[in-house]
Amino acid sequence: MPTVTVEALTAYAVRIFAGTGAPLDEARIVAEHLVGANLRGHDSHGVIRITSYVERARSGAMVPGARPHVVKESVSTALVDGGLNYGPVVATYAMDLAITKARETGVGIASAFNSGHIGRVGAYGERAVAAGMIGIGSVNTPGTRIVTAFGGASRRLGTNPIMIALPTEDPAEPFVLDMATSVVAEGKLRVAVNAGKHVPEGWILDGDGTPTTEPRDFYGTGENERAGALLPVGGPRSGYKGFGLNMAVEALSGILSGSGSAVEGARGSNGVFLMAIDPERFAGFEAFTGMFAALAAHVQAPPLMDGVDEVLLAGEPERRAMRERSAHGIALDEETWKQIAEAAASVGVSPIEGGITA
Ligand code: NAD
Repeated sequence: MPTVTVEALTAYAVRIFAGTGAPLDEARIVAEHLVGANLRGHDSHGVIRITSYVERARSGAMVPGARPHVVKESVSTALVDGGLNYGPVVATYAMDLAITKARETGVGIASAFNSGHIGRVGAYGERAVAAGMIGIGSVNTPGTRIVTAFGGASRRLGTNPIMIALPTEDPAEPFVLDMATSVVAEGKLRVAVNAGKHVPEGWILDGDGTPTTEPRDFYGTGENERAGALLPVGGPRSGYKGFGLNMAVEALSGILSGSGSAVEGARGSNGVFLMAIDPERFAGFEAFTGMFAALAAHVQAPPLMDGVDEVLLAGEPERRAMRERSAHGIALDEETWKQIAEAAASVGVSPIEGGITA
């Protein structure tokens, strides 16, 4: 199991994406996004994705270097054609547009079609927060069906994450709620398969609609060859809440942008909805962050449940992972490491040199 420094892994990923034809600045945006997801503990949205990004670029489904551009615009809205460029490039462009518009009018919304997979949605919320804004976003995966409806037993919807990022008094510690509306992101199953591990009960059904903990049953590569499905957040009991959110994300991200929903064929890998709100146009930045600090202290105060040491706010688990991984490097399982080397070789990129610490 190699452990790689952040710098070496990023440089390797930059070389790979440049090998697919991306200009260096864009290769860096994609590489830093993926390594940033690993850094924050979301291996499901980290460099494990290099293989699929490279495959899509090689097949022509993605067009590295294509110029994202606005096709429809008002003072506070923009519809963006991502040109089928890598998602982190398109979503960074779209969030920057939303921020610029929010500075002007108090609120900015950018919606994008023809975008590659944008990865960890929270990254774009953090971008809004760094500009003093509230960031809201969601993405669907048009044409993709891997999550059940509540009460359904087969694949109907994507994992459709929703994100709300809030500035706080400490700029280094924003609140970043960034969650799939399925019980977990699909990539967590991929990570479990690569690591040969079982997943907890209540995550997935097998191809016959029976609950299982074997992640290969989800892909139809386990004993049951029929592909299974993920449950909506809330699981078997309260999954109607996740199901409702999931449907809303299909509409806000896929249908509003014209990217397509779970029903139709796709224009791009992710339909993108990103929004920035300037708190100065409402209660004011200082008042907002001050009252939020009081709220945070209120919810974190004891008493706590037996066996619980502290109440965490959204975004904190990711910051803890980042502190740990920045210091010690990013550990990758052998299978993922091998797949990355194969993807690199497929675009004429030599194996990583140095930076492997364990
Ligand atoms: P998760 O379940 O690990 O975390 C969800 C949220 O809960 C996070 O905001 C986290 O900070 C918070 N959280 C976690 N533990 C907590 C605790 N103990 N107390 C308080 N808050 C806590 O994340 P997920 O739902 O598996 O999603 C993982 C990533 O996958 C996200 O970044 C999401 O954007 C991404 N994703 C992307 C796509 C795509 O198509 N681009 C699709 C699905 C998911």
